[in-house]
Amino acid sequence: MKVMVVGGGISGLTMAMSLHQIGVPVRVYEAVREVSPLGVGLNLQPNGVRELIELGLGEELDRIGTATRNLCFFNKFGQPVWREPRGRDAGFDWPQYSIHRGKLQVMLTEATRARLGNAAVRTGHQFQRLEQRGGKVVAWFLDRQTGQVVEDEADILVGADGIHSAVRRQFYPGEGEPLFAGQILWRAAVDAPPFLDGATMAIAGHFHQRIVAYPIGPGSKPGTLLTNWIAQMTVATEAPPREDWNRKVGKERFFDTFGHWKFDWLDFPALVESTSEIFEFPLVDRHPVDRWSFDRVTLIGDAAHPMQPTGSQAGSQAIVDARMLTAALLADRDPVMALAKYDAVRRPVMNDITLRNRGFGPEAAMQLAEERAPHGFARIEDVIPREELESISRGFQQAAGLDAAALNARPSFVPPGARFG
Ligand SMILES: Cc1cc2nc3c(=O)[nH]c(=O)nc-3n(C[C@H](O)[C@H](O)[C@H](O)COP(=O)(O)OP(=O)(O)OC[C@H]3O[C@@H](n4cnc5c(N)ncnc54)[C@H](O)[C@@H]3O)c2cc1C
Repeated sequence: MKVMVVGGGISGLTMAMSLHQIGVPVRVYEAVREVSPLGVGLNLQPNGVRELIELGLGEELDRIGTATRNLCFFNKFGQPVWREPRGRDAGFDWPQYSIHRGKLQVMLTEATRARLGNAAVRTGHQFQRLEQRGGKVVAWFLDRQTGQVVEDEADILVGADGIHSAVRRQFYPGEGEPLFAGQILWRAAVDAPPFLDGATMAIAGHFHQRIVAYPIGPGSKPGTLLTNWIAQMTVATEAPPREDWNRKVGKERFFDTFGHWKFDWLDFPALVESTSEIFEFPLVDRHPVDRWSFDRVTLIGDAAHPMQPTGSQAGSQAIVDARMLTAALLADRDPVMALAKYDAVRRPVMNDITLRNRGFGPEAAMQLAEERAPHGFARIEDVIPREELESISRGFQQAAGLDAAALNARPSFVPPGARFG
């Protein structure tokens, strides 16, 4: 049994280490020639963190990330609407980490290479196409250094190549570009003094205009934390720039709207002013599809279910995909059956989340505050009863598989010592 993984991002590297854990040889093909810490903030919910801890990466996560303790919503005047504990403070046996996406990818790459050997992650190899024949998958990759096309063969190929997945395109050639949801996000990570308790994810505003800020690890200067911020806004344009995680822009694109969002707990304009690199990204996803597994080929992570960032789930769900696929292989020695079962169990849940994420998610509380009290309020309880706030939060967490009691009670997807075959 041998596996090829296409894409050395968050899901692909987790897949590789998980397969190695159960004794299955695996090779990762990654398009970029050198893995550098690209991206800004990403949240790992306890369901994803559990899997990385079970892979032995707990200390590394703790070193590079922030264990987030609270999620707080505010209105556009910075008045508190709702606060909920997160991670261990919410009763989970595992923390939630807010983390720099690029540092996470570099950490996972190094861990994969340390465990599987350097040759297991082949960078600079861009997937071109695949064929299934004689009980094998054959795939062709462009070696970006030599310009040659190289061929490899395995029993299974896992497409973990992100929102523009070329593996997915082979099965859905007419799918086209991701769907634009009418909003743009401007994002950055900058060293800043801690705000609130130094471990809070704060979201302020309403559906059409909002800011998000949270620490994602230690800062490089004393007394600072690396702080992720986002300004998100509905825009009139129908044709957004093609989504590119690395598109840099100036603050004038959004500062007219958010330049006065200065609260007693966060000076957002000052945060923006102190930032040197701002990235622009349109809010996109793709329609759910009705199949991920095609005999010996399957999809995980953003290749399978690119979703809007409502509830901060893409990274965690990508990790859980990799672990559930590993569990499916442990349960069924026949790879075709295992991939079909992974598809049958996991896809409906992720398709449901993808569609739900087009709605308000836990941010519904903020939107209600805007609709019912657009000029602010004296007491939030006069605007939204406590039970209504609680039910919004509970409803989302259950749908997202973030129920603490259920997660704590669930046996491991990959029990210690489990081996394939
Ligand atoms: C550069 C970059 C920056 C990002 N920044 C953020 C961020 O700041 N915040 C956030 O929440 N999410 C970010 N994301 C997305 C986030 O990583 C994913 O939503 C989530 O973690 C799921 O991970 P994934 O492994 O499925 O996809 P990704 O993390 O997108 O990984 C896909 C990998 O596949 C590789 N790849 C693509 N095409 C091919 C091909 N043809 N052949 C071989 N390899 C290929 C890519 O180079 C990438 O390494 C970023 C993604 C990328 C690629």
